[in-house]
Formats: sequence, C-alpha cells, structure tokens
Amino acid sequence: MPAELNITPLMLLTAFGITFAIVAGRYIVMAGPTYLLFWKWLAPRLQHRRIQQKFPENKKLWAEFGWSMATFVIFALMGVTAFILRKAGYTLNYDNISDYGWGYWIFSIVLMAILHDAYFYWTHRFMHLKSVFKHVHRVHHESSNPSPWAAFAFHPLEAIVEFGIVYVIIFTIPYHASAIIVFFSYMTIMNVLGHLGYEIFPKGFTTGRFSWWHNTSTHHNMHHSKSNCNYGLYFNWWDRLMNTNHRDYHTVFEAVKDRTPSNDARGPILVTPGAAK
Ligand SMILES: [Zn+2]
Ligand SMILES: [Zn+2]
Repeated sequence: MPAELNITPLMLLTAFGITFAIVAGRYIVMAGPTYLLFWKWLAPRLQHRRIQQKFPENKKLWAEFGWSMATFVIFALMGVTAFILRKAGYTLNYDNISDYGWGYWIFSIVLMAILHDAYFYWTHRFMHLKSVFKHVHRVHHESSNPSPWAAFAFHPLEAIVEFGIVYVIIFTIPYHASAIIVFFSYMTIMNVLGHLGYEIFPKGFTTGRFSWWHNTSTHHNMHHSKSNCNYGLYFNWWDRLMNTNHRDYHTVFEAVKDRTPSNDARGPILVTPGAAK
C-alpha cells in the first residue's frame, strides 16, 4: 500500500461501520415494510396471490434474518477492501457526473444490471454443482418457501461470491458513487421481490411481448421450491438461452393470477415434478 494513502485504523473502522449500516439498513427498510404489508396486514385479503399457499414457521424467518445479518458483516469487511482499492487509485470511479454526463450515468446503471445478471446466473449455476452446493449454497435453499427476509440469507462463502460483482464493476466500468447506490437499491428491491411469496405482476406478464424478459416473484419462488431451474436474477434471457426455465413456469404464473379470493385453491398448484425447462 503506498505510504501517501494515510489510511488509519479509525478510517477502516468507519468504512466498515458505514458499509454495514447502509447494507443492513437498506435490507431492513425494504424487507421490513414489505413483510408487514404482504405477510401480515394484507395477508387475509391476498391469500389467492400467494405462490405457495402455506406459510413457513417463524423460526425459518428468524434463520433467514440471522444469515442475512451475517452476510452484511461479510459485505462490510469486503467493502473495506473496496475502500482501500479506491483510495489507492485502482478503481474506475469518477467524482463529477459532468465528467461523463447524465447519459452515461444512466447507461452505467443499465450496464451494471446486465453485468450483474450474467454474473449472478453463472455463479449461481456454479454453486448448484453438487460438490459446491453443500458447502456454499445450501443455506439459501433451506428456505423452500422463502420470505422477504431470505433476500440475503447466504452462507458466508456465498456472501463472498455475491460481493464479487462489486469488484467486477469497480474495475471494469467508470462509475459515479451515486450510480452504484441507485443500482444496488434496484438490486435489493428485486431481491426482496424474488422472495416476496406473492405474485404482483399482471396476468400474461411472463409471455408478454414487452415484459417476457423481466423475471417475476414466481420465477425465483419456483427456484426455491424446485431447486434445479430458474437460476436468473433480474432478466429471463439467460434461463431461456440455456433452457433452464422450469417447464411449468408460465403455467404456474398464470394459475396464481387466475385464482380469485373465493377460489384460492388452498392446496398447492400442481406442477410437473422435478426437471427444468
Ligand atoms: Zn439456488
Ligand atoms: Zn433466493
């Protein structure tokens, strides 16, 4: 580390504290009200929109919350390394939006989402390899019927993998700090949505000409209940390209949307067991 960096232990501690407060705070602010709204206040009225009709036990939700907190400790520690790299001048950050303009600022956020989507899909496929799964990704799949609190319920090894996208971004894209903040807020919203347990997108969304490319809550919920399918994060194109969408994805989505409050079919929706496509 160059001597002129002048990084003190107090600065590192502050970087750790700020990063932890941001990532944990953002999670609580987004998952908390979502949980209260859907899982408590509106639950009786929205039973027909639940993807899996049953509710998990409370101890599962606490486990999801606990693992998420552990993830934020890892994220904050890795955030400190990103802070040091930035101070040392190794990252592509810029300070004034006018350096690249607003057009680039918007483009950089879209690029981050496209990059993260590819990064997530392929690291996710890797973590589903049998020998890797049990050491890295099993914790996330302990929730077969996830709640919004599961959004960051990762084993610490998976948390390290998930943080890797930050390094990909800061070394390859000229970025403004505010663009990173907007992007990671979108990421957190989508992560909470994927674990919502309720389908909120309209009927026909997964096959619509202008909407097919975007993932849904049903998509990731089926990943939790079926496991070997639906690996994507934001967008559906990698699952389509690699033929890993569950063969009943569209059927299940439409079945959830076809239910009515008086016809909420309290049993599970029947799907072809097992295989993807
Ligand atoms: Zn998985
Ligand atoms: Zn998940």
